[in-house]
Amino acid sequence: MKTLTGIPVFSGIAIGKAFLYLEDDFPEIPRYSIRKNQVEAEWKRLLRANVEAMEEVKVLHEQASREMSKEQADIFEAHLMMLEDTVFQEQIKERLKTTLQNIEWVVWSIAHELVQKLMASPDSDLRERAIDISDVSRRILSKLLSITKKSLADLSQDVILVAHDLLPSDVLTMNKDRVKGIAMDMGSRTCHTAILTRAFEIPAVLGLSTLTREINDGEKLVIDGASGVVSINPDKTALDQYEGISRQYRKKGDELLALRDLPAETTDGYRVTLKANIEVPEEAAQVSRYGAEGIGLYRSEFLLLTSGQAAEEERQYQVYRQVLEAMGTLPVTIRTMDSGGDKQLPNFQSPNEKNPLLGWRAIRFSLARPELFKTQLRAILRASVHGNARIMFPMISGIEELEQARAILEEAKDECRHKGQVYTEDIAVGSMIEIPSAAMTADILAQRSDFFSIGTNDLIQYSLAVDRGNEKVDYLAQPFHPAVLRFLKKTIDAAHKQGIKAAMCGELAGDPSATVLLLGLELDTFSMTASAIPQVKQIIRGVDLESCRVLANKALECTSYHHVTGLVAAWMADHFPPS
Ligand code: PEP
Ligand code: MG
Repeated sequence: MKTLTGIPVFSGIAIGKAFLYLEDDFPEIPRYSIRKNQVEAEWKRLLRANVEAMEEVKVLHEQASREMSKEQADIFEAHLMMLEDTVFQEQIKERLKTTLQNIEWVVWSIAHELVQKLMASPDSDLRERAIDISDVSRRILSKLLSITKKSLADLSQDVILVAHDLLPSDVLTMNKDRVKGIAMDMGSRTCHTAILTRAFEIPAVLGLSTLTREINDGEKLVIDGASGVVSINPDKTALDQYEGISRQYRKKGDELLALRDLPAETTDGYRVTLKANIEVPEEAAQVSRYGAEGIGLYRSEFLLLTSGQAAEEERQYQVYRQVLEAMGTLPVTIRTMDSGGDKQLPNFQSPNEKNPLLGWRAIRFSLARPELFKTQLRAILRASVHGNARIMFPMISGIEELEQARAILEEAKDECRHKGQVYTEDIAVGSMIEIPSAAMTADILAQRSDFFSIGTNDLIQYSLAVDRGNEKVDYLAQPFHPAVLRFLKKTIDAAHKQGIKAAMCGELAGDPSATVLLLGLELDTFSMTASAIPQVKQIIRGVDLESCRVLANKALECTSYHHVTGLVAAWMADHFPPS
């Protein structure tokens, strides 16, 4: 038995067989010499592979033209043209004859040279072309080498998914009924893959660094999502222990569910609101199980990421309506598309940005593509009459962006009006506070916002300069850093001064070790992954606001992260002694 420790992401025990999923499963390209009389046979192999690749791309092109955007269809059209390109084929034939190397090697080496050359170009169109060439050559090579990629959507047995890195879109499209646990080399607590594993309630440990090198496909694996420990080939004693822990988790979970209908109120009567974050519309029907009083964050970009395209207005409208109807009269905050960063919208955003987290993302992208943005806003507006909808803009960095976004919202309203479509005229508009500049100018933003929601995942990332997806610097992502606490205080106070509510929808809102501090800062609304609600509620119901205020004021005077952490941990141990 071997154990590794990573970053605990969603608690629970998963025991099962490892399913090793490596995105770059492409094998090393074989290289061998051929005889002159084999040239013709090698050439025929290429022609056959080319035909198969063309058939595949034609199907994708038809599908894209039918269901997706024009941009997406154009990409497949360009791929088809490359596959038909006789100049490229002649170049391959020529090199095959002169070098007398196997055809896979010839295709790979020509494509590799071309891609390297184009990637070095300052012209972004040429760099985009390099991606197309790489795609097309990989498709031909996979035919030549008879490679079929493992599919996460087709999993037919229960597994523990082990990967070096999973994209949020991998998690969205995998067969969730079969994935009992997730273990990854990369990632941290607040990366979007982590957020999705919590949304789907799959025990997960990320940031394990070397796991994929230490485990073989099919080996027995246990992951403990609370402690972050994973055990490869555990012995019988360890297995028995894990099964015992698993039973305890389930018992505690069931006990907490009994709190569902009780108010989130301190012992001295201070009432806060607990809401759920959702990533996919189907979650909306589940959140009431945990007593969510609304949806504080619907990450709408995942709707677009699953398909890799900008969804049609009608499709978006239906989805938003589904979520609103599932919640009845409870409020639903739909955040406009927060794509970019680790949620690149293929075909719209460039994978070649040098600093995607600081780049063309979220509201910046929406403002630069007003037609796409308005499509989304019209869909939300039309859906708004089917429930209690609110709109929220992500990554607002200053008042100009908020004003521009509001102006486009007004245009979207005009368009609905002209078409005779009904919508909620006074729909609430909120700003996410997740960039230090927004927190520093919260007093200004509050004047043009109907509510705030603090995105601590990004606020911590940007204020402490810590990449939220990089396990090596995860230890620096300190929610109790004095700088972060000051940003929180400033934001909440500015909201209250303006008479608006301050919510939080970053992962910190669902972290039970932060609940009393956030109460003391007088946060109004906590929005979190639904399954975290009962535990946070239990803490709220066990404390009084006045002592939380005193604690928060003390924390604000602390000079270091360690100091605050120690202070809060001691307070918690005092008020909630381990049973
Ligand atoms: C955040 O940044 O805290 C947030 C809620 O948004 P996301 O995690 O989607 O970036
Ligand atoms: Mg964010």
